[in-house]
Amino acid sequence: MTEYKTVTPEILDKLTKIVDSKYVINDSERMEPYSHDEHTDPKYIKYPEAVVMPATAEEIAAIVKLANQENIPIVPRGAGTGLASAAVPFKGGIVLSLERMNQILEIDEQNMIMVVQPGMTTGDVQKAANEKGFLYAGDPCSADSSSIGGNVATNAGGNKAVKYGTTRQQVLGVEIVTAQGDIITLGGKCKKNSTGYSLLNLIIGSEGTLGIITKIYLKLVALPKNVMDLLAVFPDLKTAIDIVPKIMSAGITPVCVEFMDNQAIRCCEEFLREKLPHSDNGFYIIVSVEGDSEENLEDQCCTIDELCSENGALTVLVADPVKIWKARKSFAEADRAKSLVYSAEDLVVPMDQIPYTIEKIAELGAKYGFTIHCAGHAGDGNIHANILKETMSDADWSAKLPALQNEIYEIVYSVGGKLSGEHGIGYKRVPLMEKFCDPAELDMMRAIKQALDPNLILNPGKIFEYK
Ligand SMILES: Cc1cc2nc3c(=O)[nH]c(=O)nc-3n(C[C@H](O)[C@H](O)[C@H](O)COP(=O)(O)OP(=O)(O)OC[C@H]3O[C@@H](n4cnc5c(N)ncnc54)[C@H](O)[C@@H]3O)c2cc1C
Repeated sequence: MTEYKTVTPEILDKLTKIVDSKYVINDSERMEPYSHDEHTDPKYIKYPEAVVMPATAEEIAAIVKLANQENIPIVPRGAGTGLASAAVPFKGGIVLSLERMNQILEIDEQNMIMVVQPGMTTGDVQKAANEKGFLYAGDPCSADSSSIGGNVATNAGGNKAVKYGTTRQQVLGVEIVTAQGDIITLGGKCKKNSTGYSLLNLIIGSEGTLGIITKIYLKLVALPKNVMDLLAVFPDLKTAIDIVPKIMSAGITPVCVEFMDNQAIRCCEEFLREKLPHSDNGFYIIVSVEGDSEENLEDQCCTIDELCSENGALTVLVADPVKIWKARKSFAEADRAKSLVYSAEDLVVPMDQIPYTIEKIAELGAKYGFTIHCAGHAGDGNIHANILKETMSDADWSAKLPALQNEIYEIVYSVGGKLSGEHGIGYKRVPLMEKFCDPAELDMMRAIKQALDPNLILNPGKIFEYK
């Protein structure tokens, strides 16, 4: 176990020689927002010893070199919307916030590439692309608040992943500050690259443990001309999910296929105070499709309507996009309003295993006395199962939650699934990672970490334990 040093007044002084003193914070009131992310369990709160907000890669490089000399951990932080406590400094040290690095550096229309700094919100990236007639296809439900750097660091998924892939598929290159304090560019504007190991892909999804992302080359695509959202309501989850492969094998590639179970629909309805269709007994499938022409879009929608109706849908509606996405995107907030403390599971299974897995989760919920709401990305097999604490005592929550999670992930792994589809492992899932990840795979990850960050400075204690 590495013993880290604490941030002394001398070190604070050295930090203010790198970054203007107004961007070095160490009073606890101003550090409160950096002591947690969106995971609400009080067990996962830890205050930094200092928060630093650099403006350039060179400043970050100097901070990283100082941290190596002084043996102090650095936790990179985007917008703090993570759900796995990945940006929280559990080993102490400095939180390095990228919030001031929030500019567009270039929109290269010829190559259809946007170069941005990591602190831009995802929503601002999307808007800037749209204004030039392009689509940036990364689209997590948190897009209005998450940072693009955080999306890359977690390989965020979201609402366009079935057609366009996760954040990994949108990134052509990154500039990083390495754990040693060097500034290097991995990838760039080329559309393909077989030049040695793909270190770019190692950095994407590494949750701030291997490098600090300071510049990102994002792929843009043409803005689709015609888009439609359909809401198909089914009487049960199995018939709802069964429709997904049928749509895909009919030759349609939807932008997304989302699902909400009935309890999630009711919870969102209550939270939004808006009547949602068939909230009494329905299970939702939300399908977004794009077409080259109005005709082509209509053809796809007719096929989906026919397939859903043949497969027992109670109704298929052309959805008001604002209303339906407001409902889907309120899932986390609605559960939080019902139970301030909840555990957001992010499991992923082969698509056809969603109904079986959710059925088992419901049985386990009943066994342990938890309310569990499920929604998520059916087209990717990604289930968000929110386990609510509600009025359960802290002692029961602490004892029962890990037992429930263990049983859930036994099932998930038995059907070929994984711990996280898009939120990452962070700090919250380390015990589960140690239990469920193949030990040889974990050893490879540890070897990579040791090779790239021998002093274990960058975001220690995340993803796995160091031996
Ligand atoms: C309501 C809600 C809805 C959500 N919906 C989705 C969804 O649909 N899909 C999805 O994938 N996630 C979703 N999330 C989770 C979260 O928004 C994503 O994980 C997001 O990518 C985190 O970005 P952030 O900027 O907030 O990162 P943070 O929470 O600040 O950090 C997350 C991780 O990234 C690292 N990091 C951040 N910036 C950098 C950087 N520049 N360099 C290196 N490491 C860095 C941190 O160290 C940490 O390990 C949702 C969250 C909420 C609250």
